Amino acid sequence: MNKAPKLIIVSNRLPVTASLERKKVSVKTSMGGLATGLDPVRKEQESVWVGWPGDTAKWSDEHKDKLRVQLEEIKCLPVFLTAKEVRGFYLEFSNGVLWPLYHYMPSLIPLEMQGWDAYQQVNRRFAEEVASVYTPGDKIWVHDFQLSLVPQMLRDMLPEANIGYFLHIPFPSSDIFRILPCREELLRGMLGANTIGFHTTGYANNFASAVLRVTGCESKMNLISYDDGRTVDYGCFPMGIDVDGFAAEGSASPISSSLDSIRQSNEGVKLLLAVDRLDYTKGIPRRLLAYERMLELHPEMRGKVILIQVAVPSRSEVVAYEENKRSVDEIVGRINGRFGAPGYHPIHYFATGFNQAELIQMYRGVDAMIVTPLRDGMNLVAKEFCASRTDERGVLVLSEFAGAAAEMGEAVIVNPFDLTGTANAYATAIQMDPEEQTKRMRALRARIKGQDHRSWSKSFLGRMTDQSGRDQLQGGTVAKTQNISAEGLADLCKGRPLALFLDYDGTLVPITKVPELATPDRPLRELLKRLLQHPDLYVAIVSGRSQEALSDWLGDLPVHLFAEHAAWERMPEGPWNSHLNAASTSWMKGVRDALDRITSEVPGSFVEEKSHSLVWHHRMADPEHAEAKARELHFQLVDLLANLPVRVSSGKKIVEVRASGIDKSHAIRSVSHHLADAGYLMVALGDDATDEDMFNNLPEDGLSVHVGGNRGVAAYNLRNVLEVRKFLNLLADRPLLGTPPAAPTEVSWSTSP
Ligand code: UDP
Repeated sequence: MNKAPKLIIVSNRLPVTASLERKKVSVKTSMGGLATGLDPVRKEQESVWVGWPGDTAKWSDEHKDKLRVQLEEIKCLPVFLTAKEVRGFYLEFSNGVLWPLYHYMPSLIPLEMQGWDAYQQVNRRFAEEVASVYTPGDKIWVHDFQLSLVPQMLRDMLPEANIGYFLHIPFPSSDIFRILPCREELLRGMLGANTIGFHTTGYANNFASAVLRVTGCESKMNLISYDDGRTVDYGCFPMGIDVDGFAAEGSASPISSSLDSIRQSNEGVKLLLAVDRLDYTKGIPRRLLAYERMLELHPEMRGKVILIQVAVPSRSEVVAYEENKRSVDEIVGRINGRFGAPGYHPIHYFATGFNQAELIQMYRGVDAMIVTPLRDGMNLVAKEFCASRTDERGVLVLSEFAGAAAEMGEAVIVNPFDLTGTANAYATAIQMDPEEQTKRMRALRARIKGQDHRSWSKSFLGRMTDQSGRDQLQGGTVAKTQNISAEGLADLCKGRPLALFLDYDGTLVPITKVPELATPDRPLRELLKRLLQHPDLYVAIVSGRSQEALSDWLGDLPVHLFAEHAAWERMPEGPWNSHLNAASTSWMKGVRDALDRITSEVPGSFVEEKSHSLVWHHRMADPEHAEAKARELHFQLVDLLANLPVRVSSGKKIVEVRASGIDKSHAIRSVSHHLADAGYLMVALGDDATDEDMFNNLPEDGLSVHVGGNRGVAAYNLRNVLEVRKFLNLLADRPLLGTPPAAPTEVSWSTSP
C-alpha cells in the first residue's frame, strides 16, 4: 500500500530537549515559536522533524539508540553532532558570523571568520538524513540561517523534490550581505529550494537584489529565473502566534502576585515591561539609556514608573554576548543608583526565563510593553503581548527595525537609536488615554488574529503546492519546456544524422563580464574539432558576435559560421558574405548618439558597434540601476525608431538595435532544405531571446533546446554550459550511422527559400 506523502521539517534544533540523568534518557518537548507555528500542520498530516536533539556529545551509543527510539515515537529524527561540530557550525559560523551580519552588525564578526568548513559538513549531514527518509511526493521544509546550504544539497540528491526554505531572521541589504566571502555559496544553497519565505517584503526584496548582484539571475513578479533552468518562487509570509492560546484565561502564578506587590508598594506607579533574550540585537543597553533619558526629561515621573526587564540568558559562550551582558548590568546598576529611593527601584531586572503562563500574567499586568530591538527578524513577544491583552488596554512601543513593525503600525513606533525620541515615546505610552489605548489595541489584535500561526504555515505550504504549477507558468503562458539531461537529449538524437545550430555565448562558453574575455578554451576547441570530424554531424555556430571576433576565435576550424545574428555567413574556409546592403545602416548615427548618452549615465556600461547593429552592454554596471535604465532605453528606442527598418531587442544585460531582416532564423533557413532532404535531424541550442528565432523556424521534428534559466519557447532545457558540453561530447563519441549524408557546400543565401 502506498503511504500518504509526508512533510519533512528540517531545523537546527528539534522541538525537544533530551536529557540523561542517572543513566535514564528522557525527552521533553519545548514549544518555541517554530514548533507552535508548525503544530497545526503536524496534527493534520504525516510528518517527520529532522534536527539536533541538543548536547549528546558525551552520550554512549546505547543511550543515543534509546533516544532515537523515543524520538521516533514523537516523529523526530535526530542529527547527532560532535562537540567540535557544534563549536564550528553553530557557535563560530552560525552565531559568530551569520547572526551579527544578517542583523547589520558586521563589526561584531571576529577578525578571522571561523567555522565555514564545519558549517558545510553539518549542512551535508542534515541533507543526508533528510534524503534517507524522503519518498517521492513528500514536501521538505528547511528552516533558518543555520541550514542555508541544505536546499541545494538536497536538490543535487533529489532533483525532483519539492523543497521550501524559510529564513527566520532578517535578510540584510545586499551591501551588507556581500561582505561574506561565501555569499555566493549561501545564496546558491538557498536557491536549491522551489519556494523561499521571509517575514517581510523588505527582506524578500533584499534577497532578490543580492541574487541579482551575486549570481546575475533576475526576478520578475517574485519568480527568480535561476541559471540552472528552474524558476524559484520567493515571498513574504509573516510568522504568527497562537493568538487563542495567549488569549485564553490563565491561572494566577507567583509572578502575578509579585507584580501586585510592586503596585501596592508604589501607589500610582506605571509599569513598563521588556522581555528578551540577552542578545545584542535586542538593544537592551540603548533601551535602558532611553529610559534614563526619560527620567531626566520628565522629573515628575521619577518614583512613578518602573521598568521590568526580563533578560533570558543566551549564547554566553560567544564573546559579544558576554560584553553585552556586562554593559546591561552596569547600566541597570547606574540608573537604579541615580534615580532609586528607599523602597523604589526604577528598574526591576530578571536575568532568568519564565514560562508561557507567567509571561501572560506579566503581559496582562503592565501598562506598556517596550520592544525596541536594533534589528529583529520578526519579534514574537510584541505579538504575544497584544494577544494576551483581552482587555484591549496597554500600549505597545515597537522598534521600526523589528519585522513585526511591518504589520503592527498602530503601535508607538520608535527608532531605538534615537534615545530622546524613544524616551518621549515611553512618556507618550505612559500617558496615553484609555480610549486611544483601546482603539490601537483593538486594531493590533484584529491584525494578529487574522495572521496567526495557522495561516503562516498554511500559506507557506500552500505556496509550495502551487509552486509545482507555477514553475510551468511563465509570463502568463504555460511553458512547455521540459528539463532534460545531456544523456536524455543525446538519446533523442539517436539513429539520425544531426545538424547542430549552436549559439556561442551562454551556450558553448559561460557569459563573462567583459565580452572580449569569452574566448574559446582549449577543451571547447578540441570538442568542436571532434564534432567536425564526425561524418554524421553538421555543425554551425550562430552568434551575435562580429565576424572579426568569430574569425579570430574559430576561423581556423572548418565550421559553418554565422555572425551578427546571421547577417554574415561563412562556409568552412570560405569568405564572409552578407545578404544585407550598406543602405540598411543609415539609422545608426542617431541610435549611436542615444546609446552614448545612456552610457554616460550608467557607469560601467559601453556601446559595441557592429556592421549592422549597435549594442549597449551593461553587465559591469550596477545591476538594479542598469536594469531600470535598460527598460527605459528599450521603450525610448522602440518609440524613436518606429518607422525605420530596425529591430530593438533586450537580451542578457544588453539592448541591441539591428537592421530588420536580420535574425538567427536565416541560419536555419539557409541550409535546412539541403539538410532536411538528406534526413538530418535539426537541433538548435541557445540561451537568449535571439535564439528563439532559430527555435521558431526549425522543421516540425527539430529539437529546440534552451540553456539555463528563462527558458521561453524551447521544447527542452539543458541546465548550463557544462551540460551542453557533455551533450556534445556524447555526440562526438557516438558510433557511425553508415553512408555519410550530404552536407551543404556553398554559401546559400541565393538558394534560401
Ligand atoms: N520567552 C519565554 N520565556 C521568557 C522570555 C521569552 O518563553 O522568559 C519566549 C517568548 O514567549 C517568545 C520567544 O521566547 O515566544 C522569543 O521570541 P522572539 O521572536 O521575541 O525573539 P527571539 O528570542 O526568537 O530572538
